[in-house]
Amino acid sequence: MRESEAAAPPGSDADAEAAEGAPHDRPAADAAAATILVLGGTAEANALVAALRQRWPERRIILSLAGRTRTPELPDDAEIRIGGFGGAEGLAAFLAAECVSLVLDATHPFATGMARNAARAADLAGIRRLKLLRPAWTPVAGDRWTTVTCLAEACRALRAGARPFLALGRQHLSPFTRRSDIRPLARMIEPPEPVLPSGWTLVLSRPSTNSRAEAELMREHGITHLVTRNAGGAASYAKVEAARELGLPVIMIARPPAPEGAVFETVEDVVGAIG
Ligand code: NAP
Repeated sequence: MRESEAAAPPGSDADAEAAEGAPHDRPAADAAAATILVLGGTAEANALVAALRQRWPERRIILSLAGRTRTPELPDDAEIRIGGFGGAEGLAAFLAAECVSLVLDATHPFATGMARNAARAADLAGIRRLKLLRPAWTPVAGDRWTTVTCLAEACRALRAGARPFLALGRQHLSPFTRRSDIRPLARMIEPPEPVLPSGWTLVLSRPSTNSRAEAELMREHGITHLVTRNAGGAASYAKVEAARELGLPVIMIARPPAPEGAVFETVEDVVGAIG
């Protein structure tokens, strides 16, 4: 866990606050009063909203989604807003308009644009921001990982004739569509646009949390490699376990660097840090 404070603009409310003590030094009762914005799109964000609701039932909590998924999984009884803010400045304007005093960035580890904007907007607004970032996966005995830094490198790592399982999401397939010498299986929640090249197999579903089901899918389709990003967390780890079980090589795309500032690995750590 790491934490550092964003600098408050001179003359801002946060600047005045800084004279009295940093925002994280406020008593819990004060912290319970103001609106929290949770940037979501992940299972952790939903769990965080549920935990916040339980801890501060009277507090206004807004969950923000990008709107990529038509039928997102959502926490019960949450106030939801959907769609981009219009960059960091747009988000800063939203924070002011909605009297948000705390931003919790629980977006996906690869959602670097939103993480950057959240950091900048919180700075502009002079409010506190915490990042919830689940730990990355690390290889264990039996894993056959090749770690790469980007999609293009992952694509180059596949030999001609490979039948890779691309567990990547529909917006991350384009480098692979240019390889006519591989026959990928792609899994995603909603259909891709444009349609996939001939010779590809499409499976429309969410990742299974059951490694046996994931192994069965790979076996059934004669998969030779798993290609995935190092998302971390339990929800999509079953495919990595399945590849280990089948002795398959994994092309693992490493994470981008975490944003500057406060980073917490669990929902409990974030709630504990709020006060
Ligand atoms: P990104 O590249 O970091 O963000 C691109 C733009 O999408 C942002 O600049 C922002 O638009 C908008 N945006 C992203 N997250 C938002 C949110 N929670 N609420 C409102 N606007 C948001 O993000 P991405 O990789 O496209 O991911 C989009 C969303 O899907 C994220 O919320 C993320 O948590 C979720 N997700 C991503 C992945 C992944 O693999 N990247 C996997 C699972 C879930 P404006 O600049 O207009 O504000």
